[in-house]
Amino acid sequence: MEIVKVKRKPKKAARTKSSRPDTFRFDYVDSIENPDVVDIKPTQKLFINGKFVQPKSGKYIKTINPATGKALSNVACANKADIDLAVKAARKAYDNVWSKMPGRQRARYIYRISRIFETRKKEFAVLETLDNGKPIKESRNVDIPLVAAHFFHTAGWADKLEYAVPGQKVKPVGVCGQIIPWNFPLMMAAWKIAPALAAGNTVVIKPSINTSLTLLMLAEVIQQADLPPGVVNVVTGSGSITGTKIVNHPGIDKIAFTGSTEIGKGLARAVANTNKKLTLELGGKSPMIVYEDAAIDQAIEGVINAIFFNQGHVCCAGSRLLLEESIEDMFIKKLKRRMKQLRVGNPLDKNTDIGAINSLQQLNAIKELVQAAKDEGCIYYEPPNIKLPKTGFFHAPCIFTNVAQGSAINQVEVFGPVLAVTTFRTPEEAIKRANDTTYGLAASVWSEKATKLHKTARALKAGVVWTNTYNKFDPASPFGGYKESGMGREGGLHGLYPYLEVVK
Ligand code: NAP
Ligand code: MG
Repeated sequence: MEIVKVKRKPKKAARTKSSRPDTFRFDYVDSIENPDVVDIKPTQKLFINGKFVQPKSGKYIKTINPATGKALSNVACANKADIDLAVKAARKAYDNVWSKMPGRQRARYIYRISRIFETRKKEFAVLETLDNGKPIKESRNVDIPLVAAHFFHTAGWADKLEYAVPGQKVKPVGVCGQIIPWNFPLMMAAWKIAPALAAGNTVVIKPSINTSLTLLMLAEVIQQADLPPGVVNVVTGSGSITGTKIVNHPGIDKIAFTGSTEIGKGLARAVANTNKKLTLELGGKSPMIVYEDAAIDQAIEGVINAIFFNQGHVCCAGSRLLLEESIEDMFIKKLKRRMKQLRVGNPLDKNTDIGAINSLQQLNAIKELVQAAKDEGCIYYEPPNIKLPKTGFFHAPCIFTNVAQGSAINQVEVFGPVLAVTTFRTPEEAIKRANDTTYGLAASVWSEKATKLHKTARALKAGVVWTNTYNKFDPASPFGGYKESGMGREGGLHGLYPYLEVVK
């Protein structure tokens, strides 16, 4: 396979200020004036015991660029023999080195990962966009800075664990098997690897077979940072084969999983009669309650960000909009006008707001749910001016009105750029409708009245509640779900607990 080189396209004319509302402008602004080139090896290896090695299985699977449908590289499919080697290396590193190392020394290694990672941030951003399909401005301005921030923040905990659980002596859990999804490949890896290492554990981690490339590049950084061999092992392969082998491996002490609720439930059953610890970060159907006294333009921008960021492939995506009845018509009109300004297309173009859907399978799943909602009589809108690219996997941003509370489009996680709108008359009704879901990951409330915000936020059953904003992440802040959205937290002090055991 030829090596893929990506050069930036010639500059396009800048859009005028008025036609570019600043939803997707983030604090961190970096120039991509220099054309970035990333060389992708035609065949990938596994990262075991500090070395890149061929898989024992001898099997590979293509990973594609969802914006073009073309192959980027071949990713190794680890089998039982590969997982055995990875777990053995992780156990040896845990017993002999990592769990015994003073916290301040572990911190130095994690700081070193963060610093080296930052020096390669452009490469990472381009590769993440190529493999995942997300807009370059998001990988560059959101994913990559948050990954660095997560490593930096968590490194600081490594020598302060005695303050993490005051009055108690803690120890690491052991060898951690970690499984992550395709929507934020690097960010999910950082959320898993950083706390595990800070707490003194070692890791065997599996990315999604669709998006393994950036985690393999992170393994290069880990190698550059000179981590003791075996502390972090990256095993690629499908969920059904490689994932299952990790979950069922007797040498693993803890499973940390981020993915769908369906697979998460299966994992819970699989570890139920073992000594393994388990944390689950699962799906969501997060509500946004907009009261009539909200700052409307700000709320519109918030809704656009909440549902269209990362093509809606966000576990905490604001996929249900609950509008106070008195503002429904005005709000929907403004929202539609704003949606017409969204740019859908080439994820490498820095003006793109909505990139490619990560896989054909996901695109078909979205289309199926959209069709079912149309069949049910929900009213569909997509901006008529948006033209989707002819190649690759794309879906227009869209909204449904005339939605019943119990409609599938209002209850089932779509994991795409699809918003369901319903209305309410009183705060009590809004809260009742918002909580009427099997999920409980995130929620938001929009109002200019502080008492209303606080009262509503307290009544919402969700792990994260944002007020007058959406999708704000910080490494110091815990993230995780209620109900079928999972158990355990990631981020901040709470994110360390699942990786620590209290010594009796
Ligand atoms: P998924 O199908 O559950 O897959 C997630 C990961 O599990 C992938 O690495 C997958 O591998 C692996 N896997 C699949 N079947 C497995 C099995 N039987 N045993 C072990 N591992 C298995 O989810 P997804 O479609 O990739 O991701 C989307 C879902 O993740 C959404 O529901 C979303 O809400 C959720 N999510 C939640 C959070 C959160 O923090 N709560 C964050 C991001 C995403 P392969 O892909 O290689 O087959
Ligand atoms: Mg890919």
